[in-house]
Amino acid sequence: MKAACITGHGGNEVVEVRDCARPARQAGEVLVRMHAATLNQVDLYMRNSGAGITHQLPQIMGVDGAGVVEEVDAAESELSVGQRVAVYPGVSCGRCEFCQRGEGVLCVKMQYLGEHRNGTFAQWISVPTSNVFPMPKGLSFVQGAALGVNHLTAWRMLCTKAQLKPWETVLVFGIGGGVSLAALQLAKTMGAKVIVTSRDEAKLQRALQMGADHGIHSGTQDVAKAVLALTGGRGVDVVIENVGAAVWSAAMKSLVRGGRLVTCGATSGDQPPADLRRIFIRQLQILGSTLGDPSEFRDLLVFVERHGIAPVIDSEFPLERIHEALNRLESGQQFGKVGLDLE
Ligand SMILES: [Zn+2]
Repeated sequence: MKAACITGHGGNEVVEVRDCARPARQAGEVLVRMHAATLNQVDLYMRNSGAGITHQLPQIMGVDGAGVVEEVDAAESELSVGQRVAVYPGVSCGRCEFCQRGEGVLCVKMQYLGEHRNGTFAQWISVPTSNVFPMPKGLSFVQGAALGVNHLTAWRMLCTKAQLKPWETVLVFGIGGGVSLAALQLAKTMGAKVIVTSRDEAKLQRALQMGADHGIHSGTQDVAKAVLALTGGRGVDVVIENVGAAVWSAAMKSLVRGGRLVTCGATSGDQPPADLRRIFIRQLQILGSTLGDPSEFRDLLVFVERHGIAPVIDSEFPLERIHEALNRLESGQQFGKVGLDLE
């Protein structure tokens, strides 16, 4: 089968589309014929360095994906051959303190597809049955694939961490990225008001068309001042951000007393000034978040189907053109997910 592999550390040439052996399904696993996957920031990290991530070489890339069940245990009751499914990207140990508490996403031995074990940029994948979920009706495979990382991350940030209420206002930094767009879609559907920022006027306009209540041009406007002006001097209840240092100060100044800032990334740097006085006097909460649990993925899939949410796809490339796809993601020009067609 064809698969996109990491064959070394650092540089475009370490990503190769190769002929690999089709995985042999073990008992307790499901063999999925993959139809689509999408690219995530971690794919760029794996290509550019991969430092700090333990894995073998070569390893198949790809964290999220969707396809069709091809083979499963005869006794399996929830999945059937031919079913359209989305893949949950983490395989937890089931035995550590955190797994036993039911918080598998905190597992100390967590193995992510495409990071610690073979991933989804392949024509077939075999994963534990508990990693595979029925796809919401009405979505294409690439849209189903997009739910596994970005929408799941945004779901945990908004629901589990921030505990967003329908009457609250959310500020989402850097609209156009996968998590930011997912947060916009989910928060609007939950009934909240959403303010978005971008340095790109065209992205702000598209976000407004998708239902954002306000757009702030972060290249020409002071974001915190604009947020206060838009909220009658009050500030927002929740900030969703993955930009890091470049926006941290504006994010903190945009929060109402008792507000919650949820961060899931730091692409512009991870050591901003803490602004401790503001945190304790205004009783702010800073919450870190990564991905989500299988139980949250299940809830997300129900919500997506019930409300007809469709992830935004920027572009889709055949597997052979993975370098173009990675470059598209790295450019920051995209609006929505960069997909891979694996059919
Ligand atoms: Zn564990």
